[in-house]
Amino acid sequence: FDTSHIRNFSIVAHIDHGKSTISDRILSLTRTVEERDMASQLLDTMDIERERGITIKSNAVRVMYDADDGETYQFNLIDTPGHVDFTYEVSRSLAACEGAVLVVDATQGVEAQTVSNANLAMNANLDIVPAINKIDLPSAHPDEVRAEIEDELAIPADDAVCVSGKTGEGIHDLLEAIVVLVSPPTGDINAPLKALILDSYFDEYRGVVAMVRIFDGSITKGDELHMMQANYDFLVDGVGVKRPAETPVDELSVGEVGFVVTGLKDPEAVRVGDTLTGASRRCPAPLPGYREAKPMVYTGLFPIDNKDYENLRDALDKLHVNDPSLVWTPETSAALGFGFRVGFLGLLHMEVVKERLEREFDLGLIATSPSVDYHVFKTDGDMIAVRSPQDLPEPVNIEHIEEPFLRASIICPPEFTGAVMQLAIEHRGITTDMVHLTERSVEMHFDIPLAELILDFFDQLKSRTKGYASLDYEFSGYREADLVRLDILLAGDEVDALSFIVHRDKAYALARGLCDRLKEIIPRQLFEVPIQGAIGNKIIARSTVKARRKDVLAKCYGGDISRKRKLLEKQKEGKRRMKAIGSVEVPQEAFLAILKVD
Ligand code: GDP
Ligand code: MG
Repeated sequence: FDTSHIRNFSIVAHIDHGKSTISDRILSLTRTVEERDMASQLLDTMDIERERGITIKSNAVRVMYDADDGETYQFNLIDTPGHVDFTYEVSRSLAACEGAVLVVDATQGVEAQTVSNANLAMNANLDIVPAINKIDLPSAHPDEVRAEIEDELAIPADDAVCVSGKTGEGIHDLLEAIVVLVSPPTGDINAPLKALILDSYFDEYRGVVAMVRIFDGSITKGDELHMMQANYDFLVDGVGVKRPAETPVDELSVGEVGFVVTGLKDPEAVRVGDTLTGASRRCPAPLPGYREAKPMVYTGLFPIDNKDYENLRDALDKLHVNDPSLVWTPETSAALGFGFRVGFLGLLHMEVVKERLEREFDLGLIATSPSVDYHVFKTDGDMIAVRSPQDLPEPVNIEHIEEPFLRASIICPPEFTGAVMQLAIEHRGITTDMVHLTERSVEMHFDIPLAELILDFFDQLKSRTKGYASLDYEFSGYREADLVRLDILLAGDEVDALSFIVHRDKAYALARGLCDRLKEIIPRQLFEVPIQGAIGNKIIARSTVKARRKDVLAKCYGGDISRKRKLLEKQKEGKRRMKAIGSVEVPQEAFLAILKVD
């Protein structure tokens, strides 16, 4: 078996620089997908991805390319997400490739995730093909961007291909560059099977389907295989490739990427990053796999209907097959009942998971305010990890608290450095250094608490820099901080699910903002509802929702029955989205009000 005609590559870039558009273009140019079936963002298969125009999951597709040298090449193309929450997903994809196409927007130049993705590709020893995209736009300045790629990323850019994902210009040159610049895979077809599981998903009928990259050996239907980490054996129910529709093949051979139908119904059996080998003929050592994704943000997820608790657990199990970065533990709330404390890679990841649970598993959920992972050092000498405000010990038992810090880097045009610094200061950030990359761009570094970044930092950054700044960050360690728990009382009762851990200096302003915000969100009830913010026994802010007699039918005079019914249904619908906390009906969004307080 000859691997010299295989090219495995990922497309990486900062968000919105055009990865998905270029992938679409490649699919149509190679006639993998006929023009009439062409929809945009073809590889973004989830509804959420299409609606939001972002890639969340990597997707591997096989493309046959008839090159100028007269030969036909097998391309395995992996589209990847660009948002910082999903960096982990990118590093997973890169482990299955020999090359990476690094896309840079000709109007924006190098941005924060361009830098981090380029570093990931270089550390993985991949052959890098730089592509400068959007050259159809009048504001494109490809020569400057070429210089940025060389100066800022230390990647030779003489070979950089100028393309337009929109018009298709240059895409042919890009495909030729991939043939020439990306190395073919190596490996031994006669050696025992060694394959990396790079992704997997659960299918009601076929069980777990695993996407794999084969490093040695081959897989055919009926083979008996062994998962090295999970220590699980199974019979292969079928193999195939995505084009992008699933297409069965006879065999997946060394160097190739494709899917394996495992038939396994236990979602735990198939782990992303695990190595597949023969059940009887095993490879001596597993592949390195992936480093574990570390959750950054935790929230409580509670079913609106308590009967859905087991369904939620089941749904989390199934989603985990596809998204191994998810972690959770049971959590009980006096206000919301039984649920889970779930760890996420970031806020976007949280939103996406919540939405997938609601759509794909038909669950009604309440998410509570996000928290980071605090280290609480107690007076008795113990240290405990606190991921939920409810778990914070009484102040008398706390010696000190440490919170996670990030090293953040922001790239923006020089005129916005003042605005960015101001924003960082407001969020307890400390500027460490500032480098002029080129005339048009400055890179600033900050140490900043993660808790500050997960609130509204990103939106603020975008608005204060007119969208010109980009942000990247990594975990840098723990630091001591003066933190307190802010409680919210509704009609005199503390609502545990609304509590929040906050820096003491910010507690007053935040309490004020939350009380005002909740007053707008909580509808008028039959009685007056005081809202109070408190630290311990001390009330530090308050507002009131005035009473109102609610009688929807009073508005309808006489006989229009269908209109009355509609109104009643509407009211019922509204109720479904509410949660009764004590005697107060609270809408879902109240629990995330903290994210919207300025
Ligand atoms: P991704 O986040 O890297 O996957 O970026 P997308 O492929 O979703 O593209 C982001 C936006 O840029 C979309 O609105 C695209 O239509 C647009 N876009 C992508 N490539 C080009 C291009 O070559 N020219 C122009 N004018 N727009 C483009
Ligand atoms: Mg995309």
